Amino acid sequence: MEDTNRDFSSSQNPFQTMPRFSGKTVIITGSSNGIGRSAALLFAQDGANVTITGRNAERLEETRKLILKSGVSESHLNSVVADVTTSGGQDLLVKSTLDKFGKIHILVNNAGAGIPDATGATGTDQSIDVYHKTLQLNLQAVIEMTKKVKPHLMETKGEIINISSVAGQPRAQPDFMYYAIAKAALDQYTRSTAIDLIQYGIRVNSVSPGLVATGFVNAMGMPDAATQKLCDFMSSHKECIPALVAGQPEDIANIILFLADRKLSSYIIGQSIIADGGSTLVMGMQAHSFLDILKS
Ligand code: NDP
Repeated sequence: MEDTNRDFSSSQNPFQTMPRFSGKTVIITGSSNGIGRSAALLFAQDGANVTITGRNAERLEETRKLILKSGVSESHLNSVVADVTTSGGQDLLVKSTLDKFGKIHILVNNAGAGIPDATGATGTDQSIDVYHKTLQLNLQAVIEMTKKVKPHLMETKGEIINISSVAGQPRAQPDFMYYAIAKAALDQYTRSTAIDLIQYGIRVNSVSPGLVATGFVNAMGMPDAATQKLCDFMSSHKECIPALVAGQPEDIANIILFLADRKLSSYIIGQSIIADGGSTLVMGMQAHSFLDILKS
């Protein structure tokens, strides 16, 4: 039986010249910085119409200029300043995308952040307000965007890619427990929506990054140098990152494009691909050689 959703023809054609996302429209939340910015650049360079967005107009303009500088035409870009946690912001994203491009084929739910407690409280002492804000951004906004984009993805048999985190894996995260709770719930949402939506031909998958050098740490109120300091520490300790290198936004963006490309990943449904330089495979006690300990 022929499966029209699984067309391998052009991925097998070495002479194909058409960009692989030509004619496709992508909304990428949180594309004013970091992983989302990198994904927006790669999608646009690969032929897609891209809606880029974030709250910070200046940083969003940097993303727009970066994409235009790479040779992409203005007609392929829709730049929208919006807060993705507000209903008005979500509606604006969907409406402006449809107004400019007519259809939506891919939704990348990438906007996210660890929200620190203003009082400096950590662990169980963090306020319920921080809990609400953290879940609103990292979970609820994804649920709301999914509901709003669903009818349009049903038309195009589209793709959703959620950006989770290794913080959502079943290991303790006392410093950022609400963020970890939100990402763990997001993983369950990815699995459940994947099975709910595949009946309409919509695929849902996710990426779970480990440490990636982005604006994430600065967004928590840390100084510019903090990201480098954290990356230097983590990448010089094999029990933190066995690959001894911090991730770059492109490492994650390439996986997002892979999951959005039905010709390459059509049989992957409801999964989260972990990209963390090996971090989640290491238990502290296994990072040290038993034999060396016994010999010393
Ligand atoms: P950045 O801080 O560099 O980017 C986060 C993006 O989210 C920005 O564009 C920011 O835009 C946007 N954003 C945050 N809050 C809102 C909001 N309320 N409304 C609209 N946009 C918002 O971080 P990353 O690129 O690292 O983060 C991308 C995703 O990757 C997140 O989901 C994060 O949880 C995840 N992740 C990151 C890891 C890392 O080590 N960097 C590790 C694991 C997961 P603006 O400020 O303009 O609103």
